[in-house]
Amino acid sequence: MQYDFDYFNTLLVQNVGSKTGPIAPTVVPSAAFGYESAEEAEGIFSGEVTKPLYARVGNPTNGKLESIVAKMEGGFGAIATASGMGALSMVTTALLKSGDEVLCVGGFFGGTYTLVNETLKRFGVANTFCGIEDFDYMEEKLASGVKMVLMESVGNPSLRLPDIKRIADLCSHYETLLVVDNTATPLLVRPLDMGADIVVHSSTKNMSGHSAALGGIAVFRAVSPENDKLLNAKYADLHKFVKKAGKKAFIPICKKRAIRDMGMTANAFGSFLTMLGLETLALRVERVNRSVAKVAALLDASLPEGIEVNHPSLSKSEDHDRYKSDFANGCGPLLTLECGTPERAFRLLDALKLVTLTANIGDNRTLALHMQSTIYSDFSEEDRRFNGVTDGLIRVSIGLEDPEMIAEDFLQAAEAV
Ligand SMILES: *Cc1c(COP(=O)(O)O)cnc(C)c1O
Repeated sequence: MQYDFDYFNTLLVQNVGSKTGPIAPTVVPSAAFGYESAEEAEGIFSGEVTKPLYARVGNPTNGKLESIVAKMEGGFGAIATASGMGALSMVTTALLKSGDEVLCVGGFFGGTYTLVNETLKRFGVANTFCGIEDFDYMEEKLASGVKMVLMESVGNPSLRLPDIKRIADLCSHYETLLVVDNTATPLLVRPLDMGADIVVHSSTKNMSGHSAALGGIAVFRAVSPENDKLLNAKYADLHKFVKKAGKKAFIPICKKRAIRDMGMTANAFGSFLTMLGLETLALRVERVNRSVAKVAALLDASLPEGIEVNHPSLSKSEDHDRYKSDFANGCGPLLTLECGTPERAFRLLDALKLVTLTANIGDNRTLALHMQSTIYSDFSEEDRRFNGVTDGLIRVSIGLEDPEMIAEDFLQAAEAV
């Protein structure tokens, strides 16, 4: 079965490594590439010759990373970017234009929320938000012609688990692009298999694991040149790309309409470091997802009154049934602690010994952060609520340490509250 960790352990190490020559990925740091002749230069610029043009629009190290992640996600092609936000801004600016509307399902990572609700809005792209179960509203907006539906596979930090398949089916019915941020759940969920059109990742997180490389990537399905939702009249400005590039149309759409003009391109050394992380991704994901459920259970059993752990593996969670059906191998490294007030959350965080306080997630080390006073500090009260951020909420990202030691650290810190 494709989703099992043995499958991915084989796929990833075999694809990152080479059988001959240097077996580790080669870093090609050159910003520019020489052409054989004026004729070859013309061919490279027209796309007929597939050789590197200039590193802003791609380089061979990024190319290797892109082919591995495309296979991992069951996609047709991919584009590596400078960060996860780079991937999200590439996809949204390449596919949307002034006057369009994007439908956002569920609470979002802070940067994605402000990208949509501040930056894109400044350039004339409207947005509307709804909860993961507001199917009537989703249908109403889809019927009225929204151009893109954007969602996260697991709400960060709300930990709500959406019915990706049902939302993808609605998007297919209304011929609307569905973009899923799969940062929290690589190898656990494959949105392209469920009908999504584009998957984005912040590779800074789980994919790398080492916090040594900022990066992002977008993975695309193949376009069907005769019968594709991109051929719907509402995407008229993209039809020329489908006509010219056929199955791989999403690549020139993103390269010409975002990467070329805005330059959110990945650098070769970052992509190299990301590939080092990918070699062990399946091992780490399996370990971390077993640990998260174990830590959640230990904390649920022993935390003092007034501090609550939330994770979909717990039967009290509102998404426990979906966890069991659609997230059978886990829903990523996050769990949350509700401490009631910021003061109590601060006291707990300041008493931790093993855990690192930082804004990252998906690291090999266990991390924790108070949400309201950091990532969401410039959000309105209402926007915080919508994104699942309460005043006393701590987000925890479980790492590779012994789950019993992780739980012990939180329990001893909870005594200090
Ligand atoms: C971190 C994160 C991003 C942004 O990624 P960067 O690499 O930090 O730019 C986007 N989406 C989710 C879900 C994230 O956790």
